[in-house]
Amino acid sequence: MAGVVGMRDGVLEKIERQTMPTACGCLIWLGYISGSRYPRIAVDGKRMAVHRFLYEQAYGPLPVGMLACHTCDIPACCNIDHVYAGTAKQNAQDRQNRGRDWSQTKPHLSLAWSRLTAEQVSAIKASSGAQRQIAAEFKVSQAMVSMIKSNKRRKGR
Ligand SMILES: [Zn+2]
Repeated sequence: MAGVVGMRDGVLEKIERQTMPTACGCLIWLGYISGSRYPRIAVDGKRMAVHRFLYEQAYGPLPVGMLACHTCDIPACCNIDHVYAGTAKQNAQDRQNRGRDWSQTKPHLSLAWSRLTAEQVSAIKASSGAQRQIAAEFKVSQAMVSMIKSNKRRKGR
């Protein structure tokens, strides 16, 4: 049993290393995201969505028929405080009530950013010089460079 717990701890650490907090409180996944838009991670040999894994770690198994939904509408967000269990219908309804699409209200959180590697993000943070130049170098927007630079990693990693 201890071995399983250890493995889970490792997964949580891995998730933490691969995310970065944003000004709006989201924890954005910096690793690779496949076609489903949701970051996935291997847990006990199975691939599962990171936000769902976090939900189950915090609250236990998702009830049958429920989905792990995001209050922030950002699929790449791994902040457990932004994840809740809802039905697909509820999720669609909530999204409609919020009346927004995450990519429109939070353009600085584009998927392009979530596809930067952790190394690239560190390099952007460490680089000095004009943000415009850094942005060109990493092929990202200047707003994104500014965003990355203004975010401090928790625990100074
Ligand atoms: Zn979020």
